Amino acid sequence: MSIQFGPDYVRAIAPYQGGKPIAEVAREFGLDEAKIIKLASNENPLGMPQSAKQAMLAAVADIGRYPDSNGFELKQAISAKYGIPLDWITLGNGSNDILELAAHAFVQPAQAVVYSEYSFAVYALATQAVGGRAIVVAAKDHGHDLQAMAKAITAETRLVFIANPNNPTGTFLPAAEIEAFLRLVPQHVVVVLDEAYNEYLAPEFQYDSVAWVKQYPNLLVSRTMSKAYGLAGLRVGFGIAQPAITDLLNRIRQPFNVNSMAQAAAVAALTDSAFLQKSAQLNADGYRQLTQAFDAMDLEYVPSFGNFVLFRVGADDGAGARVNLALLKRGIIVRPVANYGLPQWIRVSIGLPEENEAFISALKQVLSGS
Ligand code: PMP
Repeated sequence: MSIQFGPDYVRAIAPYQGGKPIAEVAREFGLDEAKIIKLASNENPLGMPQSAKQAMLAAVADIGRYPDSNGFELKQAISAKYGIPLDWITLGNGSNDILELAAHAFVQPAQAVVYSEYSFAVYALATQAVGGRAIVVAAKDHGHDLQAMAKAITAETRLVFIANPNNPTGTFLPAAEIEAFLRLVPQHVVVVLDEAYNEYLAPEFQYDSVAWVKQYPNLLVSRTMSKAYGLAGLRVGFGIAQPAITDLLNRIRQPFNVNSMAQAAAVAALTDSAFLQKSAQLNADGYRQLTQAFDAMDLEYVPSFGNFVLFRVGADDGAGARVNLALLKRGIIVRPVANYGLPQWIRVSIGLPEENEAFISALKQVLSGS
């Protein structure tokens, strides 16, 4: 018998499935890389802001040195933007890092972690990696059922993950519902409010989660530079929480978890409000373009508050995989979501107008069987 390494709960982990890289699809399907359209990872179709590129290029000169392990300048920029002290901020190698740090810091094997069905895959992974017991609460209309989640919390619960907006479904929880939930959560439970897509919310849906952090010592808000800020490849995210939480996260994070080019780029991007506005506008326009096409094709979709839309491609459980493959053959990369328990659905990220158009036209061909 071969030796088995590590704990059972680590061996049981199914690795994260990301969007297929363009080069891989080109190789697999014999396609020209330049013609492939990737709408699979909720990236910003504008790419990175010029301001961030310039800051990165300037940072290259110092790349022989270690990054600032405390990320002073970046924390200052975050502090100025959100009106919080520096010791309320944890920098992460993407916000994925923040999610994992929270699991490592607050959950011991067999302790419980509550999250929603159809919520972001990393909640399950981070829970499993520390041997936590996942309490997956049934979704309501594809989104979080916060009342049921509050009821699922017990003395064994240490952590709750909430995504707002949620990925892959795009659902949104109004501020009042989250606030009511926070009031119900006992003090021994840390709530991670993952706001990776916050910057895409229209002004009438924006809310002040930092005010909640000031009120609730058990709240950790997570943000990313990967989406509206256009820096997915650099891997920068951050957590905002009172020092009792932040101090623990900082003890277990890698000392240099955010590299120096990423820190420099993030400082520039954070204050580039013109870029952010342009990204949000492009997204709103693209959302209209895609959903109008879905309406015209009579396809069901979940109204989305993020930079992606979940839509239903068939009534049998092979539908998602089948349509995904047919789109790949046409050089369109989207995200099948059977791993989320949604085998009849596909998630498409909102791209540039011409990318959306190419996707719509390929989808029409595929669904009409031509
Ligand atoms: N949270 C949610 C809800 C996400 O969709 C993602 C990216 N797919 C992340 C966190 C992590 O993104 P990153 O690590 O790039 O910040």
